[in-house]
Amino acid sequence: MSKQAATPALAVNVRELLKQPGAHKHVVQRGPVPDLATPVAWVEPEAEVTVDAEVESVVEGLLVTGQVHVMAKLECARCLRVVDQEQLVDVRELFALDPRDADDDCYAVLRDDRIPLDAMARDAIVLAFPAAPLCRPDCAGLCQQCGADRNLTDCGHQQGEIDPRWAALADLDPDDSRSGQTSEQRHVTRLEE
Ligand SMILES: [Zn+2]
Ligand SMILES: [Zn+2]
Repeated sequence: MSKQAATPALAVNVRELLKQPGAHKHVVQRGPVPDLATPVAWVEPEAEVTVDAEVESVVEGLLVTGQVHVMAKLECARCLRVVDQEQLVDVRELFALDPRDADDDCYAVLRDDRIPLDAMARDAIVLAFPAAPLCRPDCAGLCQQCGADRNLTDCGHQQGEIDPRWAALADLDPDDSRSGQTSEQRHVTRLEE
C-alpha cells in the first residue's frame, strides 16, 4: 500500500478548457484516495475511487458535475459486523480559477492547470457515509444483556426499546464525550494506537 504517487491520481489537466469558456469534456478518473474514514465507515487503502464527470468551463472557473463511486466498509451500529457497501455520490462542484476565491464552498484550480478531483471525491464520500450504518435494515443487533448476536442466536433475553438512531451513541466511550473530541480526532487517536 506504499505506492503513493507523487501527483494525486485523480487530478486532471484542464488546460484546454481554461482557454475556451463554454467548452467541456467528460472525464473518468480512477485511483486510490487516502484517509477516507470516519469511526464507523472507511475505504480500504487499495480500493479505487472512480470519478465520472463532465467538466465545464464557466465564468468563475470549472464546474464539475457527475458521480463519485467507491466500495466502502461500514460497521453496523447494532451488531458491529463490518459489511461492504457501494457508495455512489452525486457531485456538482466549482473549482475557482483564482485560489483566493476558493473557500469552504469551492475548490481551486491547481497552479499547473489541473483540478484536484481527489479532494472533491474525499469530501463527497465522507459526507455521504452514514453516521449509524446498518448491515441490513432489520438487523436485530446485539443482546443488551449478554452481547449475543441476535441475528445468529436467540439467547432468550428480553430487550428494552432502543431507538436505532441512538444505538451508535451507546457504543461511544464516555471518556470521549468528556474530552470534547470530534469524531475525526477520535479516529486519528485510534490509528496511532
Ligand atoms: Zn447489523
Ligand atoms: Zn442475551
